[in-house]
Amino acid sequence: MVTNYDAFFLSAIARLRTERRYRVFADIERIAGRFPHAIWHAPQGPRDVVVWCSNDYLGMGQHAKVIGAMVEAATRMGTGAGGTRNISGTHHLVVDLEAELADLHGKPAALVFTSGYVSNQTGIATIAKLLPDCLILSDAMNHNSMIEGVRQSGVERQIWRHNDVAHLEGLLQATAAGRPKLIACESLYSMDGDVAPIRQICDLAERYGAMTYLDEVHAVGMYGPRGAGIAAREGVMNRIDVIEGTLAKAFGCLGGYIAGSTALVDAVRSYAPGFIFTSALPPPVCAAATAAIRHLKASSWERDQQQNRAARVKAVLRSAGLPVMPSDTHIVPLLIGDPEKSKMASDLLLSRHGIYIQPINYPTVPEGTERLRITPTPCHDDPMIDQLGAALADVWIDLGLPFSCRSSDLRSNKTCFGSTP
Ligand code: PLP
Repeated sequence: MVTNYDAFFLSAIARLRTERRYRVFADIERIAGRFPHAIWHAPQGPRDVVVWCSNDYLGMGQHAKVIGAMVEAATRMGTGAGGTRNISGTHHLVVDLEAELADLHGKPAALVFTSGYVSNQTGIATIAKLLPDCLILSDAMNHNSMIEGVRQSGVERQIWRHNDVAHLEGLLQATAAGRPKLIACESLYSMDGDVAPIRQICDLAERYGAMTYLDEVHAVGMYGPRGAGIAAREGVMNRIDVIEGTLAKAFGCLGGYIAGSTALVDAVRSYAPGFIFTSALPPPVCAAATAAIRHLKASSWERDQQQNRAARVKAVLRSAGLPVMPSDTHIVPLLIGDPEKSKMASDLLLSRHGIYIQPINYPTVPEGTERLRITPTPCHDDPMIDQLGAALADVWIDLGLPFSCRSSDLRSNKTCFGSTP
């Protein structure tokens, strides 16, 4: 008879330690009005730090309009939604939010979920299950939430090489013309900061009669004239069947959504377990998200400033000889290529320099490409950026990490050993 169940959990944890990917979280207290400053609750006591790895990409989580909307809604309507969407949880503010999202993406309808993860998982699974004999064509670098959606659908899937439209076309060609097909990919891949060839994917989808499902989680709020994402920036948003996004990154709140045709959204609303069997997002969260979306539809200042800050960070780090991986977007990945060294670099930055950058290890990124992922926001000023460059150079020297990688080496994930500056 088994009695010591904890032994199994302890050995599972031990495995992660052996594989050098046991995760340690930093206990961070964000300070509204002073972001990216925060308090780190260190074992030795609280310390002021600057956060450089937040997905509150535009600092909207502390915007006066967003906080105001949340407080006002909580005061007026209370805290929780009070039920699932079907049973008393369809409150007026979630209906408003869905209308705002549909308008953002130029689609007839939108549906809100409790997170971006759930929208992908239950959205993809439900859509694919409703299409008879559906084949899902999934980009190799898709996020875990999409992979879980594909798995949960139980339908056949084929993986196309990351951003490789020729490979995607080969798979489409090999599929019977009349068979329903769902192409699933992201617009902006958040660990490398690269962008999908969305226009070419739309061309293929139209040529071969496939549906398109685009995760814009790391792009909504930040790209396109009204913050609708990369597809909007590229002028192809109307050619995408389903756009999925989050309210938890650039919009500074919590929740996820899909936007698409009335029939598709109604079908997901009616069939998706991850939508039906869980409580609705609370009114204060919906009010805050709506305020953030509305603000970013009208204001480009945050987007422009974020791009400006990201460009400056890249320039400062490159001129310090640090191995900035090539990225077309606001994401600034810094290659280390070893899980322990990334953890040590992160620890040193935090303890010695008051800079918080969480290390990114396998399975979030492939083994050997462990990194620091830096996310500059409009709130990071020049002195902070200069301090970041100096602190990173100090840590690189201390840990004997390689400087001055060539971009060709980085693209092929080779570790390079240049000279220290
Ligand atoms: N899709 C992608 C590409 C993501 O990176 C993430 C989370 O980081 C999600 C979906 C899930 O979004 P959320 O954090 O709202 O659950």
